[in-house]
Amino acid sequence: MYRPSVKRIVRLSLAALLTGAALLTGGEAGAQGRRSGSRLMSQAEYYTGDQFRFETQTPRGARVVAVRRPNVETLRAIDRGLADLFAVARRRGYRAALNFTDYTIFVARADRQRDSAGAYSPDIAVGAAQYRGSVYDKGGYVFAAGMVLSMDQPAFVIAEHERDFQRVANVARYEGEHIVLYHNDRRLYSQTADHSRGGSHPILQ
Ligand SMILES: [Zn+2]
Repeated sequence: MYRPSVKRIVRLSLAALLTGAALLTGGEAGAQGRRSGSRLMSQAEYYTGDQFRFETQTPRGARVVAVRRPNVETLRAIDRGLADLFAVARRRGYRAALNFTDYTIFVARADRQRDSAGAYSPDIAVGAAQYRGSVYDKGGYVFAAGMVLSMDQPAFVIAEHERDFQRVANVARYEGEHIVLYHNDRRLYSQTADHSRGGSHPILQ
């Protein structure tokens, strides 16, 4: 397991305190975001400590910004996860933020490759904030499969995967759930945003 530097942990903790994160089993965290592309990039770099040098699109048109060129399985998995999400959202009558081109997905370096049980689980480290003392707290930070970066300009970050691409699809769907709810059902969004109070994904079935 790779543990992030102390400097990075402190920075992430501060960020999480400032923004109020949401995280979940297995899990992921959220941070409220801002608008323009460059600010989005700054925010992604701030949370992950990574430099995103590569930009591409999924086959269905979602924007992907990555530390390295993503493999085609990752791009297809993002599409699959978002497609599942959009389908279930449409069945509920939602209309907003249901286009692939609405979304930007950052693919960051993983801060660990395996979970505590030894299973392949590329995750990013995020300041613990409201998860302090909970089962998620690994000592000031928590590992998250993904994190929402921005609601208004839909964006989230996931960790690089080299296999188990179904997990990429799941994370894309789960992070997207928070964004879709924010745009379509603010009450359910509020009820499900903070996983430290219970609840997890999928929220929409
Ligand atoms: Zn979540």
